[in-house]
Amino acid sequence: MVSRRLLLGVLATGLAGSPLAALAEGDDHHAPAPRKPAAPRPRAPAAAAPAPAPVRSTVNEYPKPAETHAPEVLINPDEALGRLKHGNAIFARGGASMALPSWARINELSNGQKPFAIVVGCSDSRVPPELIFDCTLGELFVVRTAGSTVSREGLGSILYAVEHLGAPLVVVLGHTKCGAVGAAVDVATKHAHLHGALFDMALPILPAVLQAEEAKPADLQDAAIRVNAQTIADRLKTADEAFSSRIAAGRLKVVSAVYSLQTGQVEFMG
Ligand SMILES: [Zn+2]
Repeated sequence: MVSRRLLLGVLATGLAGSPLAALAEGDDHHAPAPRKPAAPRPRAPAAAAPAPAPVRSTVNEYPKPAETHAPEVLINPDEALGRLKHGNAIFARGGASMALPSWARINELSNGQKPFAIVVGCSDSRVPPELIFDCTLGELFVVRTAGSTVSREGLGSILYAVEHLGAPLVVVLGHTKCGAVGAAVDVATKHAHLHGALFDMALPILPAVLQAEEAKPADLQDAAIRVNAQTIADRLKTADEAFSSRIAAGRLKVVSAVYSLQTGQVEFMG
């Protein structure tokens, strides 16, 4: 059982600067258009396929997919954000513009990477960043933990991508119906018992649950998902001097967002 006083202490020390007011206008329930079935776009050039096709024994016998080059020019934070929004719009329509990378491209990337965005996301199997943002190899630097939380190791990973890879954008991505946040809600409201490391997974989310609870939302889990993502983004902005100095210089942006499992759309909350 969790001591509410302990949790509030964590909340008070770790979450200065409530993002709740800023979240007030964020609303994922503006009835987005349902996903429309789109004409499937082949990921590889359609090969003339006389049936039955012979069994191929090596990868070299497969038709080569169209070349996809991830741009390696430096882009600014807003351009990076625009690319993610554009990519998600393609995904949410049921499409995909990226062909699978060729072997040449895979090999080329072995010489280095220049991801244009860092995504701090949930481990949920339904929210793979590369797919929902219509990206390919070498474009996204991804840190994933159930609940989209950031451990010390995760923070170091983000710092590496910002300092050494030059990524200009960090997106903290929550998602609807997040089970990890749901577990934290159950701990806070029903005194649910989580054993072992499961409790460690939920613990960093509990302050967001308590903060969301103060507004008495109709859907506490949904509200906590938003507060959690926004709080993590806010804390990242000052988590390291490398972040705050780049933000001040306009070279880095940290934003939060929520992916809707129902529509495939990402709502950016700023
Ligand atoms: Zn989740």
